[in-house]
Amino acid sequence: MDHPVLFACFEKLLPLAVKWVGSMEKRILRQGVPLTELETADARVIGLREPDRIRLLPLSRAPVPNDPVLQASAAAIRFLTPATRGLALRHGILLRSDCWRDRGLIAHELVHTAQYERFGGIEPFLRQYLLECLTEGYPRAPLEQEAIATAAAAIHRPRES
Ligand SMILES: [Zn+2]
Repeated sequence: MDHPVLFACFEKLLPLAVKWVGSMEKRILRQGVPLTELETADARVIGLREPDRIRLLPLSRAPVPNDPVLQASAAAIRFLTPATRGLALRHGILLRSDCWRDRGLIAHELVHTAQYERFGGIEPFLRQYLLECLTEGYPRAPLEQEAIATAAAAIHRPRES
């Protein structure tokens, strides 16, 4: 599926993506584990006020939406590929098993969680994020660049004494 087609279908695809993210988040919040003390400290530095709400869940490979159109769209903008190591579904964070407890990756996904909160929910965040991926491309999308920079600054901060 190419980008002009995705653009044309964006308003139809977005609600499917929102629904998928919402159901994945529910599952992760049910099955996942809380952040460690260090990850919680990272979350606070990143700006999350309620790190206790966050859950991490390991998966052997990146999840695939059941809807074939959604699946193709996610692959086309590289939102989800076999190379996806982690994914923030608002307060639920998926980590590929071989990246489990990878501090830098978790910090990156926590910045996306903070972005969901800043935009005020799944729909407004995804609208902005997916449009950026469509127009700028992943990983040049500004929200992606913010995640990369903020996560690096958070985990390389001077140690509190
Ligand atoms: Zn990212």
